[in-house]
Amino acid sequence: MIIVMASRKQEDVDVVVSKVEELGYKAHVILGVERTVIAAVGDERGKSRLTALEALPYVEQVFPILKPFKLAGREVKPEPTVVQCGPVKIGAGHFCVMAGPCAVESREQILEIAAAVREAGANMFRGGAYKPRTSPYSFQGMEEAGLKLLREAGDKYGMPIVTEVMTVEQVPVVADYADMLQVGARNMQNFGLLRAVGKTSTPVLLKRGMMSTINEFIMSAEYILSEGNPNVVLCERGIRTFETETRNTLDIQAVPVLRKYTHLPVVVDPSHAAGHWDLVIPMARASVAAGADGIMVEVHPRPSEAFSDGQQSLKPSKFKLMMEEIAPLLKLMGQTL
Ligand code: PEP
Ligand code: MN
Repeated sequence: MIIVMASRKQEDVDVVVSKVEELGYKAHVILGVERTVIAAVGDERGKSRLTALEALPYVEQVFPILKPFKLAGREVKPEPTVVQCGPVKIGAGHFCVMAGPCAVESREQILEIAAAVREAGANMFRGGAYKPRTSPYSFQGMEEAGLKLLREAGDKYGMPIVTEVMTVEQVPVVADYADMLQVGARNMQNFGLLRAVGKTSTPVLLKRGMMSTINEFIMSAEYILSEGNPNVVLCERGIRTFETETRNTLDIQAVPVLRKYTHLPVVVDPSHAAGHWDLVIPMARASVAAGADGIMVEVHPRPSEAFSDGQQSLKPSKFKLMMEEIAPLLKLMGQTL
């Protein structure tokens, strides 16, 4: 249920929050630009008791949230959410470019790529220290040593870092080093992991599962929000279709569809969607044109030597070209980097 406050006074909000909690619901206070609302989330069956709160003088209205996603939807928060990740803002006209290698491979590799992407204009640095690989015999990542290298590179070149966390047990260590926790496509419906990252206050980049619908995607974001972490950025990264020419099919329509239903920022990863480097620049342009709040791109100076995903990695010179090509589109779309 949505409780629209007639008052914005903290003490009035506190009274309603405690009444909502007494009735056995979780209360999420959403401070909008024009109004404060309290989302009461829990068992739908007792909602008539919440409706009674309308009798309070500082409550304007109580009405049900119709969509299955309560906190992620625009019903409860019409204005776009801006996620703050270190000094970088994402959403509502603040564009982010997250760039870096698929995996952290060595100190030299990480520092070389960080310098190159920063120089070209990236404002966030990516790289996997824990890698979800199809084969258990493939390179699994440098783990905590990799996190240390990412932190060093991020600090040296002034970029917040985003890196994947694969298990509940890894959450504390990854949150110790990272500015943003990535939940990968394969874990989009790992509900234990979603709850665990939701219990932190670190921003989360939630990637769409390769076989997930948009509704399921938003419901996964809802798990994180319902645990109290409002800092969620959604990432469209391609879905599996019958097409075999590309690694995945970039569902570019997901950008405006997500925009319609949710206030959360939406970024696109053209690298994992395409699976081949020569498709990344056109798909990055398409992402900006579709209204994305950011892109995530894999970059490697020597793609043929990369431990993973070399075929879809841009060389630094191509990444620079991509940045030049998206610049006029960003301007057109009213986005600033
Ligand atoms: C990644 O970004 O490194 C990654 C593994 O992506 P995805 O989860 O989208 O496959
Ligand atoms: Mn990759």
